[in-house]
Amino acid sequence: MATKPRFSTDEQPTVTASDNALETARRQLARAADCLEIEPGIRERLAYPDAVHEVTVPVERDDGSVDVFTGYRAQHDSIRGPYKGGLRYHPEVGRDECVGLAMWMTWKCAVMDLPFGGAKGGIVVDPKSLSDDETERLTRRFTQEIRDVIGPNTDIPAPDMGTDPETMAWLMDAYSMQEGETIPGVVTGKPPAVGGSRGREEAPGRSVAIVTRETCDYYDRPLEDVTVAVQGFGSVGANAARLLEEWGATVVAVSDVNGAIYDPDGLDVAAIPSHDEEPEAVTRYAAETDVTRLSNDELLVLDVDVLVPAAVGNVLTADNADDVRADLVVEGANGPTTVDADAILAERGIPVVPDILANAGGVTVSYFEWLQDINRRAWSLERVHDELESEMVTAWNAVREQRERRDVTWRDAAYVVALSRIAEAHDSRGLWP
Ligand code: GLU
Repeated sequence: MATKPRFSTDEQPTVTASDNALETARRQLARAADCLEIEPGIRERLAYPDAVHEVTVPVERDDGSVDVFTGYRAQHDSIRGPYKGGLRYHPEVGRDECVGLAMWMTWKCAVMDLPFGGAKGGIVVDPKSLSDDETERLTRRFTQEIRDVIGPNTDIPAPDMGTDPETMAWLMDAYSMQEGETIPGVVTGKPPAVGGSRGREEAPGRSVAIVTRETCDYYDRPLEDVTVAVQGFGSVGANAARLLEEWGATVVAVSDVNGAIYDPDGLDVAAIPSHDEEPEAVTRYAAETDVTRLSNDELLVLDVDVLVPAAVGNVLTADNADDVRADLVVEGANGPTTVDADAILAERGIPVVPDILANAGGVTVSYFEWLQDINRRAWSLERVHDELESEMVTAWNAVREQRERRDVTWRDAAYVVALSRIAEAHDSRGLWP
């Protein structure tokens, strides 16, 4: 069985200390706090999560046997509103990773000026090793185990790697059944039939495209003249690639876990189903056309104008950052650039627009969904697109302004925007008791 059960000795992600999400998040916090001269007490508080819940999730397999998995929910900070962030089902989920990712959610919500704090959770499991029924039982039992610490006004989960709208519907149902009333606002990223927002699934990819468009424009590179390589053809990568193509860019390379495809004249990305729509679609497209096949590593160093790493974390590292030939990197995944790679890219003058801004469309439309749930009134897709466009452009402008004022990187500028809002809230509320 590929899945790692509860008492595996090998639960932690196989990354070095410097690439660990928590280490990275803390180092980024320290840099921004130095820039802003944040009060040491607030800075210290933000380096630690408010709480990390670790639970045991027993599940009956289809053959009648029982397996036991570990689940986490890390709650980092709630000074600006309820904890908010995704749930990931992945064999390398770990405590520190959840804390680091929860910290990123705190900054992401603050950079977007949403009334949320940050959380992240997940289960140490390979979702591909579970049948649909097993995934449903796992999700329902996990919901029961974390029920006391989530809720529409306390902590609101959402999809992340290995989870999808159906997972969120099971979570909402399990929570609501126990509470005795339908509470759609306990989770976002649900199917529209049960209180999900139109446009939520494509929102992270849409925000990556909006941020790429704004940044290219800023550097006087109209999208019509720009080539793009996108690593990852899941919901973030596929939606970003499709929109960028629609807006005039030439998408020359995309990839999935099996490898990349490249055509210097441009791929017909609209014709390639996303990984969620058809898992082997990139491979099939390669077989049916005469595009060049590359590895994922080769895609990252292609000579393109814009590189969008939208698959997993830690793909741009000290080993390949010197070879990156893109003029601009826009982070679609969470944490695709290690601290060392970030320094190398900055040194080489390659701007990196950070994840906490670029893919923040997901949590922003989650916020719209939460508002719709509370008000029991659905928005049109047009309204979701319009409001997302306006929120993204406002946040991008706030970051650009700090970047220019302080002469720092895009990442440092985004952290400065986020941290100044969080620190101000901590300062105003004070410490209790
Ligand atoms: N998992 C997504 C992220 O990393 C969305 C979180 C949310 O919508 O709460 O931003």
